[in-house]
Amino acid sequence: MSHSAILFMYSPLETTNTYLGMMKNIVIFGAPGAGKGTQSDFIVERYGLTHISTGDLLRKEIADQTPLGLRIKSIMDAGQLVSDDIVVEMIDNAIARDTKGILFDGFPRTVAQAETLDRLLAKHDRTLTCMVRLDVPREELIRRMLERAKVSGRSDDNEETIKNRLVEYENKTLPVASYYEKQGKAVDINGLGDIQRISQDIANAIDAL
Ligand code: AMP
Repeated sequence: MSHSAILFMYSPLETTNTYLGMMKNIVIFGAPGAGKGTQSDFIVERYGLTHISTGDLLRKEIADQTPLGLRIKSIMDAGQLVSDDIVVEMIDNAIARDTKGILFDGFPRTVAQAETLDRLLAKHDRTLTCMVRLDVPREELIRRMLERAKVSGRSDDNEETIKNRLVEYENKTLPVASYYEKQGKAVDINGLGDIQRISQDIANAIDAL
């Protein structure tokens, strides 16, 4: 059903809240190299969502040589996380502008960010639909990232930084999965194997919610 048809079904007072309640807001979660970018393209297309990748937004700041970009370049090049305040402000602005529902890619990466996301969604009368987690073993993650490093041109795709990014993931980001498990919002997907099969598994899981 089109968005306008849905809007037509409700009285003006109900419209905003009901529509916002039906809107999908999804987090795609996984280690660097788990395939979040690839599966994000699929989810965004299938459910008509806005794709918000904090990594892409931060890389754009660096490419544009903004004051923020100049501050964060060395942190990103070292494979560390930038501070929560920086990404939280980006996400707040993105939710305020969006009308379709959002796929969050690369965010939240800390439990503090996950708590803030709940608060920001509530502020905009939304809730999180689910967190889709792509499970991929560590050796395969490293293999994929080294492979990607040959073509990506990303300054953080080198062996040293890849190790740092995995350590940051294991220490700071993994607890985010438990945060959503406790809320009953975690959907686990086997991220190994054929890309289309993984996409189908994701769609089946989201459609079954
Ligand atoms: P990504 O493209 O998602 O792999 O992110 C690349 C880099 O951007 C990460 O290694 C971090 O330095 C930074 N970054 C992206 N998203 C976040 C976030 N939510 N919190 C902190 N740092 C982030």
